[in-house]
Amino acid sequence: MAEAFALLGDEAVALAALHAGISAAYGYPGTPSTEILERIIAECEKDGNGGADARDRPKAAWCVNEKTALEAALGTSFAGRRVLVTMKHVGLNVAADPFVNGALLEIKGGLVIAAADDPGMHSSQNEQDSRFYAAFAMIPCLEPRGQQEAYDMTREAFDVSERFHVPVMLRLVTRLSHARSTVIPAPPRGRNPLSKAGDRTRWMLLPVYARRNYACLVEKQKDMEAWSASHPANKTEGQGAAEYADGAHDLAVITSGLGGNYYDENLPDFAALRGGAPPRLHIGIYPLPAEKIRRFCEGKKRVLVIEEGQPFMEERLRGILPHKVTITGRLDGGMIPRTGELDPDNIRAALGLLPRAAALEKIPELPNLPARPPQLCQGCPHADSYETIKKVITELDGNPGHPSVAVNSDIGCYSLGASPPWSVPESIVCMGASVGMARGAAEAGIPYAVAVIGDSTFIHSGIPGLIDAVNAGTPMTVVIFDNSTVAMTGCQETAVPSAKLRELVLGLGVRPERLVELDAKRQLIDENAARLRAEIEYRGLSVVIFKRECLEAARRRKKAGRKIEEAPEERPCERAEKTLQ
Ligand code: SF4
Repeated sequence: MAEAFALLGDEAVALAALHAGISAAYGYPGTPSTEILERIIAECEKDGNGGADARDRPKAAWCVNEKTALEAALGTSFAGRRVLVTMKHVGLNVAADPFVNGALLEIKGGLVIAAADDPGMHSSQNEQDSRFYAAFAMIPCLEPRGQQEAYDMTREAFDVSERFHVPVMLRLVTRLSHARSTVIPAPPRGRNPLSKAGDRTRWMLLPVYARRNYACLVEKQKDMEAWSASHPANKTEGQGAAEYADGAHDLAVITSGLGGNYYDENLPDFAALRGGAPPRLHIGIYPLPAEKIRRFCEGKKRVLVIEEGQPFMEERLRGILPHKVTITGRLDGGMIPRTGELDPDNIRAALGLLPRAAALEKIPELPNLPARPPQLCQGCPHADSYETIKKVITELDGNPGHPSVAVNSDIGCYSLGASPPWSVPESIVCMGASVGMARGAAEAGIPYAVAVIGDSTFIHSGIPGLIDAVNAGTPMTVVIFDNSTVAMTGCQETAVPSAKLRELVLGLGVRPERLVELDAKRQLIDENAARLRAEIEYRGLSVVIFKRECLEAARRRKKAGRKIEEAPEERPCERAEKTLQ
């Protein structure tokens, strides 16, 4: 019997992708998807890597953002090789352009996009459901409900991509990505040979070809739905499932993803209450098999939909089932909460069951402990940088809410500066938004507009906004918190090392005399505040870089025995050129 491994859902996806014969994996870190690419990179860096020498190992790399990652993956597929792309759900917004357009291409090497959603927003700014994106792009989506299924479905997703010649989405959620269970892997397969796409018109979305390619995608939908309808992941299951056509029950249950697990957990009690289990259809593969659902629900008065995330199936069922069938779930205001994560208890309540005895047991009274919200590490450089900004704001405009100052912040550890004792950021929207928003606020008339953005977020998507501001000559200050790492997701390397940040900013057109670098140390707060204030008061565009390494990154670096990165004498492309000469 094959060896079993205890893997996180993310690690199961990583292992499956390697066993599916990928030639490359690209991504941008984001909770809860980060561990997928981390595991692949670690496997690829292992000495020997199962006997393969370095040239034979898959290429695995973090990219500047999710869009560039997906575009690199399209290139790999174009060359006939298999490739995985990883991102969190909001990263899919950044990658939306190549994602939607990639569906029109004739995918050659299997291309799988692992999108990890975060219902309940444990570490995200919204709880959007990636299944809507898969349906929008008209591509298949596989939704595992356990670690073994995450492994099996990832492998299958590459086959499906090559079968229908489209990218395929693997939809994960936090509780699956970050929970560990046993996985028994299958034998690894070899990598696809290099073989470039034959018909170049299938890879060019000029209108003349795009119209035909889009028609081709529409034509494939029938086959995809037939595949989905007959797939074992979309099956009736549980006691009573075989009776579903006999009219014995007026209720049918449709579950998907982890919603299926929470239903299973409560099924024995529900069956005891109702004198039997209602018929149930579990969906693990999309597109939704409309005809199968129609037949499954024949003769039913009520359908209960249990799905993790937004009401994706529930909305679509209203167009599939006759109006006389009552559909209940997240949308009818009561059965299942409209927002937030599912769990066994809220599904229990939706099934009309009393809370479990254990839940009713009296919990011993706890002392009145103060709440402990997430906070910056003790000694974090961002704390001193915020202290500096706060000092300047208070000097410029001592009013609470400071009407003459706008501080637009961004996504990263420094978002925590929105809480006391700093309470400095006034907006946090999405990756890179701080720079564009500060421009808009400045041009709307706010005298002192400041964008606060981390080095990695700046490289991810702050650069275009700064180019806009340079071109417009907007009077604003971009403050870059450069801590030499992607701290919030586990200290991955930034795409541009700190030592090159100055050069990069100057290359975007910022005037050298308006680019200030500050050492973000506590003892320099007064001195730094004076220099920052001068830039904020300057009636033009300036950039101030607060520099100090993240404590956690420094700890890891020292543990690994690495010195802090100096500016490389040569760029990687220059080194590569020399190697080729
Ligand atoms: S991980 Fe680094 S950047 Fe994040 S709060 Fe801790 S010290 Fe600050």
